[in-house]
Amino acid sequence: MIQPEARTADIRSHHPLWDQRDAVGRRAMLTEILAQVSHEALQGDTLEAVLHAIVDCLTRRLPVTIASIILLNEERTHFVQEVWSGRMDLEQPEMPWPVEQGAAGRCARTGQAQLITDMRNDPDYISGNREVNSEYLVPIRHRGRLHGVLNLESTRADFFTREVCSVCDAIADQIAGAIHLARVVRQLEQANRSLRELSMRDGLTGIANRRCFDLRLAEEWGRHARVRRTLALLLVDVDCFKALNDASGHLYGDECLRELARLCGDSVRVGEDLVARYGGEELALLLPGCELADAARVAEHLRARVRHKAMPHPDSPVAPCVTVSIGVSAVQPEESQSSDLLISAADHALYMAKAQGRDRVVAHSGEIDLLARD
Ligand code: GH3
Ligand code: MG
Ligand code: MG
Repeated sequence: MIQPEARTADIRSHHPLWDQRDAVGRRAMLTEILAQVSHEALQGDTLEAVLHAIVDCLTRRLPVTIASIILLNEERTHFVQEVWSGRMDLEQPEMPWPVEQGAAGRCARTGQAQLITDMRNDPDYISGNREVNSEYLVPIRHRGRLHGVLNLESTRADFFTREVCSVCDAIADQIAGAIHLARVVRQLEQANRSLRELSMRDGLTGIANRRCFDLRLAEEWGRHARVRRTLALLLVDVDCFKALNDASGHLYGDECLRELARLCGDSVRVGEDLVARYGGEELALLLPGCELADAARVAEHLRARVRHKAMPHPDSPVAPCVTVSIGVSAVQPEESQSSDLLISAADHALYMAKAQGRDRVVAHSGEIDLLARD
């Protein structure tokens, strides 16, 4: 059960706000409360804050000892959360609390509001406060879907008149609207997260796509310029991939790309480095804080693993299996420079690796060329 932080509500048996008014004054007050609940239902950063504000408003302004909103799970088999205000002096059932239990359970099971004025003879009544003499429970339902129960308890046996009950029914509708709105917002946020995630993934390999790579490169470039560290890039290109597609079919080519993506993922630091599909049969590995020599070692290790995997390539002049050429670059960026520098250096190194016979790593710092493998 969620404990209220500071309950300042006037919950004594004597309730001047209510007692000093005549029938007309009380009707006006009920209308004001309904308006305030409608207002609260649309405010608040979280659903819990909204529900707290509503139960607080009810115990402050009405002669009710306890006001609570008890929420059901998705399956509507158990109450899983209670937001309450007022004075509870007796132990309540532990959450989750099955709907077979208690007057709130009866309200949820039957879907009908329950007015209890003879507490001692009600088989389902579970007391929260010894002085309570009447209780009104209303289903919180939005478009046929039951979300929970609004529970109001008063020390007065005669408090829940027809007029009061119908205002409580309307309040339960407002609460249902707030819960529905919060669920819709949550679903939208979830859908947005999934869409954002999808828009950053490559459909074939499941690794990051070019868009994600470009964003991350811009971010890392700026960060590395600030902290004066070296950022490294590997451009990995499958050798004679067109010939592989022609000889073994595009589906086999696709499978080789997936395997290559897996091998790349296994060659880098999880959570630090980025493996992305740069385009076609070309993958990019971005290694933050990595010097050229270390990046060349990672590249050589990856090249050897691809070769060792021995994925058949029936039409390659390089080897009987799939091989890759890798261009490596590493730059300590200046704020004024463009990240194109890192890409063109790796691109140049890749071009050299192809020109020198493929299945090899060439590292290029932008100034010197370092041949990592003959
Ligand atoms: P090189 O050794 O010089 O890199 O030769 P290559 O044949 O690998 O290079 P080229 O650029 O001539 O051909 C790349 C091929 O990659 C052509 C294209 O059809 C193929 N390709 C690009 N994307 C995919 C893909 O998603 N799946 C498959 N199966 N093939 C793809
Ligand atoms: Mg290629
Ligand atoms: Mg290519």
